[in-house]
Amino acid sequence: MYRGRFAPSPTGPLHAGSLVAALASWLDAKAHGGTWLIRIEDVDTLRCVSGADRTMLKQLADCGLHPDEPPVYQSQRGALYQTALNQLIAQKQAYPCGCSRQDIETVLRTLDQLRTRGSASVYPGTCRHGLASKPARSWRFNTENFTPNQPVAQQIRAQAAPNKMAYEVLNWTDRALGEQTQNVQDEVGDFVLKRADGLWAYQLAVVVDDAAQGVTDVVRGADLLDNTARQILLQRALNLPEPRYLHTPLVLAPDGKKLSKQNGATAAEVHTRQSSLNALRMAGRMLGLENQGSTLADWLASSVQVWKSRFCPLSH
Ligand code: GLU
Repeated sequence: MYRGRFAPSPTGPLHAGSLVAALASWLDAKAHGGTWLIRIEDVDTLRCVSGADRTMLKQLADCGLHPDEPPVYQSQRGALYQTALNQLIAQKQAYPCGCSRQDIETVLRTLDQLRTRGSASVYPGTCRHGLASKPARSWRFNTENFTPNQPVAQQIRAQAAPNKMAYEVLNWTDRALGEQTQNVQDEVGDFVLKRADGLWAYQLAVVVDDAAQGVTDVVRGADLLDNTARQILLQRALNLPEPRYLHTPLVLAPDGKKLSKQNGATAAEVHTRQSSLNALRMAGRMLGLENQGSTLADWLASSVQVWKSRFCPLSH
């Protein structure tokens, strides 16, 4: 049975970009006759804005996007993340790391391999085989050390290069964007599961929650596409079911970057029925939905039909 979710971080009100992701995940759930959930991803308490969750829930309700179950909050689910981390530690797939950002950059500079991914450097694996008497700061996933005979070892394709482990390249299929591939070990490195400040990392929390909530389909913005291989690795390591993924186009700011508060995204204007309909129409255009419907309910209903014809191959 289909279960989908919208999982915003409460860092501010919904803007044009986040409304696209919300609408797409709602449409996909409804087009499949499924359940739509909202999960407030408030693990990164440093970035959360007080009251933003309530604002977003109100904006969604004003657009007619109502969750089928009460929203859950990641800040209340730390015990689940700890259990998952303990499992990975027991399987030797997670290890403590004593490196600061500076330490990592120094090592990479020495190796002449300074590569970055967003704001994070590709971790060179310094603490993979021990802390060398440094105090532990964070916990990382070991991209090198999978237990043989677990699904992970079977499903990741071999790579021919000598001196490389045989399970590095991860292939997966996005429902909208098609075949995807990533070598997590080379391109990302051993990624963080629990941060030096004690906060849970997005990658672990999202995987644990998608499984705990029985999510079958993840529909979200393409800015998160790059995280998916890491999440699939974690699902395989934790022996969790793998949801299907669909990434939607991003709404770009005039500067060509992803729309965010930093480059002037303003709250989606949904105070009246007409303004909500206008905001949804705009979000719909980003998803290629040019359809009729003069009321909110009509517009949503006809969008579900368009979505069904496009993304639900078995329904027609
Ligand atoms: N909380 C993440 C964000 O707002 C989205 C997580 C997800 O959909 O997987 O960017």
